[in-house]
Order: sequence, then C-alpha cells, then structure tokens
Amino acid sequence: MKTIAQRVHILHHGHEEPPQHGYHDYNPSWDYELTALPRAEQLDDLKKAIEEADADLLDALKFPGAVVFLAETRSLQANTHGVYADGTSQFPFIGLSMERLHDACEDTGNDFSVQIKATLAHELAHAWLEAQCSDDLSGDTEEQLVEEFAFTWVVHGQVDVSILESAIASPAP
Ligand SMILES: [Zn+2]
Repeated sequence: MKTIAQRVHILHHGHEEPPQHGYHDYNPSWDYELTALPRAEQLDDLKKAIEEADADLLDALKFPGAVVFLAETRSLQANTHGVYADGTSQFPFIGLSMERLHDACEDTGNDFSVQIKATLAHELAHAWLEAQCSDDLSGDTEEQLVEEFAFTWVVHGQVDVSILESAIASPAP
C-alpha cells in the first residue's frame, strides 16, 4: 500500500525540529528564520504540491525523504522563491518563501500549488545533481537543467531524470 506525504516533512515557526532521519544533522534554524504555516487555502496548496512531489519525484530521484521548511523572505537571496540547503542531498532540505511564491503567481498567472511544485522540483533537482558530485557544472548550465526538469514535470507530467543525467554523462577532462 502506498503512503503519501509521510516522507516529506514541513518545518515552520513553532515546529522547527527536523525529523529523525539519520542522514545528516542539518537544522534550517541555523541559517533561516522560519515563518508560521500559511492560512488554510495556501496550506492546502502547499500540501497538495508536496504530496505530488512525494509521489512522483522522491523515488525517481532516489531520495528516502525530504524536509520543506518555510523561510522568512528576507532570509532568502533576492528574487528566489526557494533554496536547496547545500550538503543535505542524502535527505534534501528545501526552503520556500510563501510570500515570493505568491507574488510569482501574480506575475505568471500560475496556480499557487503549481508554482510550489515547480520550485520543489527545481530544488530537488539541485539536490540530485549535488548527490552525483556534479560540482564542475557551471551555475548557468545547472540552472537551465533543473528548470527544464521542473518544467517537464509540471507542464508535461513527465519525470525525466535523463535531463539531469545528461549533465553527468560527459566524462571529466
Ligand atoms: Zn536554482
């Protein structure tokens, strides 16, 4: 039987202690101020996006679980909706700014849960690439690949890991 949404944990203000997972001891409260859970409607969209990412992406990318933490916008870099916490690739930790995601929807016309899904896929793809030790990718190349991976899932419903594998296929010089 398939259990949904139990492998991805949400951390927020008032609930900042990561789950016991045994892969690393990273705690987002070292680097970020966490926000409270959003109001009901946004929370439903967040949970829906996380359930879909759990169901579609975790096994494909071979992650045992993940943590989504809700970060204060001012603790993220300018113009970013989300962040992957470097070094957590065995059990990825992903920060989201609900505020920036909401603002992005006003610009793109996207559904809020779609916007969250795109960001989760983008950041999980960064984690996957880090796990493959693809340190020699340029930042721009990596951004293009993770965006293409996220777009292919969100828009076409396909989880195409070969997009990311193409980055590690070429042997090092
Ligand atoms: Zn990125």
